Amino acid sequence: KTVTADDIRKSVEDNDVRFLRLAFTDINGTLKAVEVPKSQLEKVLSNDIRFDGSSIDGFVRLQESDMVLYPDLSTWAVLPWTDVRGGKIGRLICSVHMTNREPFPGDPRNNLERVLGEMKKMGYTQFDIGFEAEFHLFKLDDKGNWTTEVPDHASYFDLTSNDEGASCRRDIVETLESIGFEVEAAHHEVGDGQQEIDFKFDDALTTADRVQIFKMVVRAVARRHNLFATFMAKPIQGQAGNGMHTNMSMFKGKRNVFYNKNNKYHLSDEALYFLNGILEHARAITAIGDPTVNSYKRLIPGFEAPVYISWAAKNRSPLVRVPSAGELNTRLELRSVDPTANPYLLLAACLTAGLNGIKEAKKPMKPVTSNVFEMSEDERKKLGIKPLPSTLHNAIKAFKADKVIQSALGEHLTKSFIDSKELEWSQYTQSVSDWERNKYMGY
Ligand code: GLN
Ligand code: MG
Ligand code: MG
Ligand code: MG
Repeated sequence: KTVTADDIRKSVEDNDVRFLRLAFTDINGTLKAVEVPKSQLEKVLSNDIRFDGSSIDGFVRLQESDMVLYPDLSTWAVLPWTDVRGGKIGRLICSVHMTNREPFPGDPRNNLERVLGEMKKMGYTQFDIGFEAEFHLFKLDDKGNWTTEVPDHASYFDLTSNDEGASCRRDIVETLESIGFEVEAAHHEVGDGQQEIDFKFDDALTTADRVQIFKMVVRAVARRHNLFATFMAKPIQGQAGNGMHTNMSMFKGKRNVFYNKNNKYHLSDEALYFLNGILEHARAITAIGDPTVNSYKRLIPGFEAPVYISWAAKNRSPLVRVPSAGELNTRLELRSVDPTANPYLLLAACLTAGLNGIKEAKKPMKPVTSNVFEMSEDERKKLGIKPLPSTLHNAIKAFKADKVIQSALGEHLTKSFIDSKELEWSQYTQSVSDWERNKYMGY
C-alpha cells in the first residue's frame, strides 16, 4: 500500500481537498495537528512544515522548540466530513523531526519505529496488533456539554436495541469503512451506553496510527448524533469500565512465530518466553497501559478487568489470555490496557518486554485454571500470583524501578512520562471530592 506524492497530489484535486491536517501524538496520547491550506501541499510533501513544539506536552524546552513534520504518505486519508465552506480535509500522520533533520526522540511514534527496528535486528519482521477499544456514549445538554445520562440501557451484544446509541455505532462503523478501516466487530458492551468496535489487526505502527484516527472518528460522529463519546477507563462507578484489550503476535515473513501446533495451547516456545517477559514487566507496563488516575478504578474485581498478574487459555480473569485461534491468529491478549493509553508508548513497552523475555528464554508461571478472584490471598501467594499496581502512584513507582521498560521509551520519553504522570498524581492528591465531603463533613 505504498502511496506516492503524486497519488496525494491527484487525490487532493479529485476530492477538492482544501486543507491538509498534519497529525502527530503527544506524550499523553493526545492527537495534535497542524492544519495548512492546500497552497502548502508541496511544502508538506517535501518535509518542510515547521511548528513550535514548546507548548506540546512532553516535547521540548523553549530554546530548541522548532520541529519539522515528516508525513508518512501511506497514512493519507480524505476525511469524510466537510467544513462549512465546502471542500474537504486531507489527513496525514507525521513523524516529528528536529531542524537538523534527525528524528525527534520525544516523538512517541519515532520511538515505536526505533523499537520495531530492535525487533528486526533479532530476525522478526512484524509485530501484529489487534486492539479492542471500548467506549461510552453520553447525552449532551442544551449547551453541547457532556452529561452522565446514557442514550440507552441495552446490554452485552444487544442487537435488538434501536436507540440513538445503536444508530450512532452504525454510523461510526460506516464512517470508519469510508476511510479504509476494516471493521470486524461492533457491539453493545456490558455497561449502560457502552460500545465496542474492533477493526482488523495489522502491524504495530499502522494499528497505533489507526487507533488514534479511530478515536477521532468516534468522537466526531458521536457529536453529530448529539452524543459525547469518552474513552475514559471508568466513567460510571459500579459498572463495567472501558478496556482496550491488546492482542499481540509476531511474524517472520508469513510465519506466526507464536504458533506451534505440537505445543499446548498451540503456543510456541518463543510465545511463552515473550509472555514471560510481559508478566515480569507487567507492573511497569501498567503505568503506560493504564496511565490515568481513573484507570485504577477499572482494575478492580467484578467487571472483567484484571487485577492479578497471571495468564490462562480460557478463563477471562487473568492479565493475559490466549484466545483459541488458528495458525495466523494465535496471539496473546493483554487485558489490563485501557483506551487512555498512548498506543505508541504501549506497543513499544509490550514489544520490549516480550523481546527481553525471548532473550532470557524463561518459561512463564503455570497458567491458572480457576478464577483468580476466588482464590484466597494465600493460594495466590503459593502460585506466585502478584497484583497489578493499585493506583497510578504505585504504577509510576514500578515504572521508575524498571530499566527494561524505561529503555522501551528511551531517555527523553521516560523523563517526560514520569514528569507528566507525577504532576497528574499530585494534582489528584490535592483535589477534594464529593466522596470525601459526603464521608467526612459530619466529622
Ligand atoms: N469492559 C471490560 C474491561 O474493562 C472488558 C469486557 C470484555 O470485553 N469482555 O476490560
Ligand atoms: Mg472484544
Ligand atoms: Mg469488550
Ligand atoms: Mg477481548
